[in-house]
Amino acid sequence: MTATLTKTPTVVRTIAEMRDAVRAYRAKAGAAASVGFVPTMGFLHDGHASLIDRSAQDNGLTVLSIFVNPLQFGPNEDFERYPRDEARDLDVAARAGADIVFMPGVAEMYPTPAATQITVTGVTERLCGASRPGHFDGVGIVVTKLLNIVQPDRAYFGLKDAQPVAVVERMGAELNQPVEIVPCPIVRESDGLAMSSRNVYLSEDERREALVISRTLAKVPAWIGSGMNAAQLTSAVREGISASPLADIDYVETLTYPGLQPPAPEAPLSALSERIIVAAAVRFGRTRLIDNILITQPEA
Ligand code: AMP
Repeated sequence: MTATLTKTPTVVRTIAEMRDAVRAYRAKAGAAASVGFVPTMGFLHDGHASLIDRSAQDNGLTVLSIFVNPLQFGPNEDFERYPRDEARDLDVAARAGADIVFMPGVAEMYPTPAATQITVTGVTERLCGASRPGHFDGVGIVVTKLLNIVQPDRAYFGLKDAQPVAVVERMGAELNQPVEIVPCPIVRESDGLAMSSRNVYLSEDERREALVISRTLAKVPAWIGSGMNAAQLTSAVREGISASPLADIDYVETLTYPGLQPPAPEAPLSALSERIIVAAAVRFGRTRLIDNILITQPEA
């Protein structure tokens, strides 16, 4: 975090107040106005703070939303027990430089059951789209509603969730949503574990074993450099993660990015010009963690 001045953000809980606040800022800032938006589910950590900080650098007004969206959780997922801590979140938001924190309740966002659906096909077929049916329909509707409510110039998303970034970019382009989507790098703990609100669920043993994910993904550039094709790389990553007795793999996939389709099966990945992502979802006990590595320039 680079913000040095801590300011107390304005807390807003209704859609009407949220719109008024942005309207007032735009009226005051005039032609120079620019609104950055960071949507989250709260229980903020330095990964979220990096997005807020980036938005605060780029824009005159930064809006952070905290909303645990029931529509993107499956029936047996962790919606009820998802960690929530408003006071702590407001502290992180203030230190990272948020101006407004939008915290609507479920009834404010969904006063009636949503009859409108947003389904993005293709990029949602694999990874979390396959293992969490309906998840991206929930993401599509909540992101569209939040963008319509806040009407930002830019919206900041972490590449920790690389598939949502691909989904939101595709949806934004096809629906002509007037916003620039800004993908931001994954922030990790000092030992390499990708920061996640769900990390608090991990027992001490699980926390230690979870390192197998980032440590295995860190080998991907060398494996690509050695000439592996997609199937070979996927098995090497699976094998690396399976070395932990506590790791229960949901998926490991090697795909093109942002199209999220299988690359040419036989070709060494280093010979492809497309970006490649290796993404994993792994359970440690009841906690499902995701992580990925995006190879922008496969080594020739
Ligand atoms: P969440 O609260 O989990 O819905 O995440 C809200 C936003 O923060 C999403 O755009 C995430 O990709 C981003 N985010 C979560 N964890 C990280 C991280 N470790 N590094 C960078 N961004 C992150």
